[in-house]
Amino acid sequence: MGNVFTADGSSWAHRLELSNGATDVFFDVLTLAGCAIADTPWERHLVLFFTDAHRWSRGTAGFDLGELPWTTGWLVEKAFLDRLIGMALHRHGWDRLAYDPPNAIAYLSTFREMIAGYTPTPVSAPAWGDWRVSPDPALTARCQIHGVFVGEFGCRLCDPNLQPR
Ligand SMILES: [Zn+2]
Repeated sequence: MGNVFTADGSSWAHRLELSNGATDVFFDVLTLAGCAIADTPWERHLVLFFTDAHRWSRGTAGFDLGELPWTTGWLVEKAFLDRLIGMALHRHGWDRLAYDPPNAIAYLSTFREMIAGYTPTPVSAPAWGDWRVSPDPALTARCQIHGVFVGEFGCRLCDPNLQPR
């Protein structure tokens, strides 16, 4: 059991499957990197998605890359996601974590390979909403301790349900 991340329903050989604890780590490091570079509305929505992920969806937070609301600007969107993962691979913001995530490099590397091999298709009526429209500014307010977005559920790095005590 775990959270399964796929690229266009990718085969077993080309997917990421993480336990709940590993999933929390995965989204923590993506949030730390993403909050440093998110600029456009689409980019802020993506990082808010990471910020809020696996908060009330324990064990079901996996997704397929095809579920993201890619637009006709998907080349730029895909490049942003790749850049974000590159920063996470360089441990961006890990000094703000209350724990050491030794396995995160492996998760991020696999995820980056999945994205590299994936060609997005623009979604005309995205189920996750229109990411071309700016998110509510209240959601991209930042935690005073960790500097990351607070999102719907508050700073994930302050959340005792996610973080080791
Ligand atoms: Zn915080």
